[in-house]
Amino acid sequence: MSLLRKIHRHQRSENPQTHETDDLESDHEFHRLIDRMGGIESAYIKQMSSLACGCFGPPGGRCSEPGCGRISCVRCHSHCGGSENQSPDGCGKSLCRWHAYHLPTPNGGTVPFCKRCYGKIMRSRRWQAVARVLLPSFVERSDDD
Ligand SMILES: [Zn+2]
Ligand SMILES: [Zn+2]
Ligand SMILES: [Zn+2]
Repeated sequence: MSLLRKIHRHQRSENPQTHETDDLESDHEFHRLIDRMGGIESAYIKQMSSLACGCFGPPGGRCSEPGCGRISCVRCHSHCGGSENQSPDGCGKSLCRWHAYHLPTPNGGTVPFCKRCYGKIMRSRRWQAVARVLLPSFVERSDDD
């Protein structure tokens, strides 16, 4: 009955895209007097929230696609063109799993791109294929089947 103190700590982050608040972690501390023994009992409750990707883990960042802003963990969060050794085709935008479009690389990996850059790359590839048909003189004879 004789509660001495309650402490609530919340780690929150506002989503600039949706203006909703993400609860990242909360800590609750209770201290109460145990009358008969004249002592103090403390309880400490730590509540972990999973991130938008469903993982527990340190947050990697927010998606910067309009209307999204999801927080993914460090493993699921990515950047357009890759986080390290960034591809010159990418704009570097931070992306969640839902907004990353992966393109295969020659060495068997994949590079994530945002929707816009992915579309641009696909269009340029299509454009190259069209140009090859329309302007055969630009392509060496050996390239033809
Ligand atoms: Zn994750
Ligand atoms: Zn991009
Ligand atoms: Zn997203």
